[in-house]
Amino acid sequence: MRILGAGSGVVELTGGTSGHRRWYRRGPVGVGAQRPVSAVTGLPGAGAPPAGTGPQASARGRVYDVPAMTDPRSTARPPAPAPASNVAPAPAPATPPAPGTSAPLPLDRLGRRMHDLRISVTDRCNFRCTYCMPAEVFGRDYAFLPRRQILTYEEVARLAHLFVAVGVEKLRITGGEPTVRHDLPDLVRMVAAIDGVRDLTLTTNGSTLRRLAGPLADAGLRRITVSLDSLDDEVFRRMNGVDFPVDRVLDGIAAAVQAGLAPVKVNMVVRRGVNEDSILPVARWARDAGLILRFIEFMDVGHTNGWRMDEVVPQVEILARIDAAMPLEALPATYAGEVADRFRYRDGSGEVGVIASVTQPFCRACTRARLSAEGELYTCLFAAAGTDLKTPLRAGATDDELSERIRAVWTIRADRYSELRAAGTADRPRVEMFAIGG
Ligand code: SAM
Repeated sequence: MRILGAGSGVVELTGGTSGHRRWYRRGPVGVGAQRPVSAVTGLPGAGAPPAGTGPQASARGRVYDVPAMTDPRSTARPPAPAPASNVAPAPAPATPPAPGTSAPLPLDRLGRRMHDLRISVTDRCNFRCTYCMPAEVFGRDYAFLPRRQILTYEEVARLAHLFVAVGVEKLRITGGEPTVRHDLPDLVRMVAAIDGVRDLTLTTNGSTLRRLAGPLADAGLRRITVSLDSLDDEVFRRMNGVDFPVDRVLDGIAAAVQAGLAPVKVNMVVRRGVNEDSILPVARWARDAGLILRFIEFMDVGHTNGWRMDEVVPQVEILARIDAAMPLEALPATYAGEVADRFRYRDGSGEVGVIASVTQPFCRACTRARLSAEGELYTCLFAAAGTDLKTPLRAGATDDELSERIRAVWTIRADRYSELRAAGTADRPRVEMFAIGG
């Protein structure tokens, strides 16, 4: 194990369950403390306030203290469980059988079903966003996964098919930057053909969309999410870490619209002191362009982005800034487990959302599994280790055996990191977001 830390020696390179090296952080850090920078198958048998507290929260059916806003939501997320690590996991209730099988859909120990699968197709990215993959840590010498360790598209499609058979209905292709992997439309074509996939989307930084939006749409991609942290070219170039001009991402978004990917959603991570002045301009632009915008609270994923609680611009503040200029009202969730809190402009001109995983954790409704580029299954964005699916897959495991492994991982799942954030989870090892798939 090597210590490779910036200055204080707090970042180390260590092995995951697959033996691949990852960046973890050593040593205790309190919330709010300064952190260092740091075939397709045929299935033949083959430092935040605790959850529910803080000025803006009253469990999930909470009232926002944004002026002039009402909360007409009828499908508020379930309340967070008691904040204790000794909560006895509830036994999984019986569920209806998975499509085409007699086995019941698995529920985890908190009664959550598996509904979404995020598939990371690469740990590489052409950006070095300061909050995700900072250039000073992920420089030229950084050892990304060698090709042989990354699942082939056929392997991804086979696993995706098995996940769908145990209940997954929504697939999101991500990374790293998924569009830097060759022939991505080939994978899209394979997974779009899986029976039972109701929603197929992709998250991208938008840098390659002028070239790829058409082929991706032709391959069966239905919609897309593009990350865009500012319209201010200077701010955008600084945040993406590679001096990439904002105009090219805007052109990529235009290409996605032209290709018929609908809706196009835009993700904007907000970091205090960096881009909070971009909140209103981006909100105005997205509303005028008819795009669905999601602000994301800066999260403490991984251990290399120097996360500090005081750099989180909370949902309540994001909403207040917008509401002061363009009055908002809350919308009901469209489905249980939706990660964004949604709001519409009172004049009917569109909607905006906030993914507030720091100040409004939504673990209780989390139905997401993640498949990393190297074939590990994770059940939490803040997990330290995944479960290896690639080794058995390459060793000739049958579909039944792989399905059983997937079910077993999900059934014992009890993670709810974001809800426990205030209870001393900050110094736990965690995998980086680009490795696990954002
Ligand atoms: N490269 C693609 C992109 O840029 O959208 C997909 C991968 S990226 C990890 C997925 C999303 O995670 C992006 O919207 C990104 O802004 C967001 N993200 C990355 N690090 C984050 C952090 N520390 N806090 C909040 N969101 C983050």
